[in-house]
Amino acid sequence: MSLPKVHEIPIGGIITEPGSSRRNLTGGWRSLKPIIHDDRCIRCRICWMYCPEGTIKEVKGEFVVKGKKYQYKYEIDYNYCKGCGICAHECPTKAIEMVPEA
Ligand code: SF4
Ligand code: SF4
Repeated sequence: MSLPKVHEIPIGGIITEPGSSRRNLTGGWRSLKPIIHDDRCIRCRICWMYCPEGTIKEVKGEFVVKGKKYQYKYEIDYNYCKGCGICAHECPTKAIEMVPEA
């Protein structure tokens, strides 16, 4: 089998408009949905770092959970969360549960 030369390879996807990926709501791909149980979250930020879609947001504010005060919490933007489960797999306290999409 001979491989095509570089100029014979079909042109792949081209982004013609900056920021157009915002309209691609990848949340529609989801069959499992991550739920963050705030009472188990130790604010380690690991889910935020690992999410491949950048859909976990750090929300600043005053939050009291089981008598402990926190300056922020984490929320998931379900418009773009594709339900891969990486966040749940990496969370050290198992604060993220994957549940079937309703
Ligand atoms: S990985 Fe788990 S414990 Fe850490 S911030 Fe995310 S939800 Fe909280
Ligand atoms: S399930 Fe995947 S895409 Fe959704 S928040 Fe977790 S790591 Fe991100």
